[in-house]
Amino acid sequence: SEERSLNFIEEIVEEDIREGKHGGRVLTRFPPEPNGYLHIGHAKSICLNFGLANKYGGKTNLRFDDTNPVKEDTEYVDSIKADVKWLGFDWAEELYASDYFDKLYEFAVELIKKGLAYVDDSTAEEIAAQKGTPTEPGVGNAYRNRSVEENLQLFAEMKDGKYADGEKVLRAKVDLASPNMHLRDPLMYRIRHAHHHRTGDKWCIYPMYDFAHGQSDAIEEITHSVCTLEFIPHRALYDWFIEKLDLFDSHQYEFARLNMTYTVMSKRKLLQLVDEGHVEDWDDPRMPTISGMRRRGYPAAAIREFCERIGVAKRENMIDLSLLEFCVREQLNKSAWRRMAVLDPIKLVITDYPEDKTEIFSVENNPEAEGGDGKRDIPFSREVWIEREDFMEVPPKKFFRLGVGLMVRLKGAYIVKCHDFVKDADGNVTEVHCTHIPESQSGNDTSGINVKGTIHWVSVPHAKTAEVRQYERLFKVEDPSNEDGDFKEYLNPDSLQIIETAYIEPDLMNAEAGTAIQFMRKGYFTLDKHSTADKLVFNRTVTLKDGWGF
Ligand code: ATP
Ligand code: MG
Ligand code: MG
Repeated sequence: SEERSLNFIEEIVEEDIREGKHGGRVLTRFPPEPNGYLHIGHAKSICLNFGLANKYGGKTNLRFDDTNPVKEDTEYVDSIKADVKWLGFDWAEELYASDYFDKLYEFAVELIKKGLAYVDDSTAEEIAAQKGTPTEPGVGNAYRNRSVEENLQLFAEMKDGKYADGEKVLRAKVDLASPNMHLRDPLMYRIRHAHHHRTGDKWCIYPMYDFAHGQSDAIEEITHSVCTLEFIPHRALYDWFIEKLDLFDSHQYEFARLNMTYTVMSKRKLLQLVDEGHVEDWDDPRMPTISGMRRRGYPAAAIREFCERIGVAKRENMIDLSLLEFCVREQLNKSAWRRMAVLDPIKLVITDYPEDKTEIFSVENNPEAEGGDGKRDIPFSREVWIEREDFMEVPPKKFFRLGVGLMVRLKGAYIVKCHDFVKDADGNVTEVHCTHIPESQSGNDTSGINVKGTIHWVSVPHAKTAEVRQYERLFKVEDPSNEDGDFKEYLNPDSLQIIETAYIEPDLMNAEAGTAIQFMRKGYFTLDKHSTADKLVFNRTVTLKDGWGF
């Protein structure tokens, strides 16, 4: 893509390199919690973190932020790794916050010894009440004055499983009067008698995000820890722990999370859509997940380009879904081979063409590519399927398709002229009758006739069939999370339209999974994962133009 100015994080990194900070070294990390599949918002973070490392000769760690045993699972770990790879990025090290549990425990003990952490027996409600409000300072309780010895003993007992969930917590002793609520003696550890997907039953106390994240960064010697804006108020605490523990001075920088229209982007909400059956699975092609987009046929390069184009903002904003679709079209237009498929068929009979004749026409795979990217054979015969919408009984002016008396070119074949049509008892048109101009064969046209319209078609006796799935926006409104009531009330009931039997040109039987194809005039399509040799299933990746459909 073209030259662009530096984003504000790149400016910071360049400044740090100029000043020789961390020896000019750049180490970033992408820190997903393995509690769901990655979505396009994560792609933004991935492109930013790996992009910084690539640009400045650094590296990026993939660190699973797996400190919450209840919601996490190895299925998610595997999908996250597959998605990051598919997006085109290689991490330096695959790491897990849970690998630091011993180290984090030692850090906590160190803070207790320094008089900077204490065990609190209060309930969550009591702690919240004692914290005060943004305008009123919090108040300390008796536990805050526990001795170092008592705290050490109680914390060890917490670890050894002596207490039930919620009975005690470990808190940092920071400042109950701080204007920053996150500094009012935040929790460091809570008791959770839960099985962890990696550490099993070894632990029954788990560190909070704020105590795990910065310390993990420091352990790995991350130079630039990039996260989203909601973590701005956490930064002071991030710095406090690093300072009090005298660790590597990792720094946190914040950018605006990606929000996109007509979808939701929280894993909790996406999980609801999956669990309640509103979509097939995490990789449903309507989902904003990386796996859904891959299945739908979005190229990884289009997602990277999208992340590049939206830039790195310091303020929350909402990106139009159509920008992503634009990037997808731009990529596919260069690479996708053209094929003909009729989605809503009506029969066209060429009455002056011999009944038992077949001609084979050779047509370019991609006129946009240099040299046409080779050719494929298309059989032609007296009867062809065309789209119902390409014929009108009473065509309006400037209808450059078919109606009695009108001419059109059949792509790669002949110009035909309509002279009649047939209707059934209900008044539906069932056949369109034409004659052809034998001298008008594509590539060999000596007819001297110019027609404005070209339509796609598939020879009836040679046609193969396929199921075609067309997707529209998953939600009816731009920002379903900010509407009244439940976001699921705003699901688009027509987000999936299935065409059971479309007619496709025979060469499409050779279509390969993961390869994009343009169905001429209809959009970009790709084989779905449910496609089999006996029953092809195509997903519509995106329409050809913006503003079609819903
Ligand atoms: P969610 O709200 O979807 O659960 P999360 O932030 O809890 O998201 P994590 O797995 O913790 O999910 O995210 C991993 C990284 O991706 C974090 O650094 C997070 O800031 C970043 N990230 C998550 N969502 C977005 C988004 N919409 N835009 C940009 N970055 C994001
Ligand atoms: Mg998170
Ligand atoms: Mg989350």
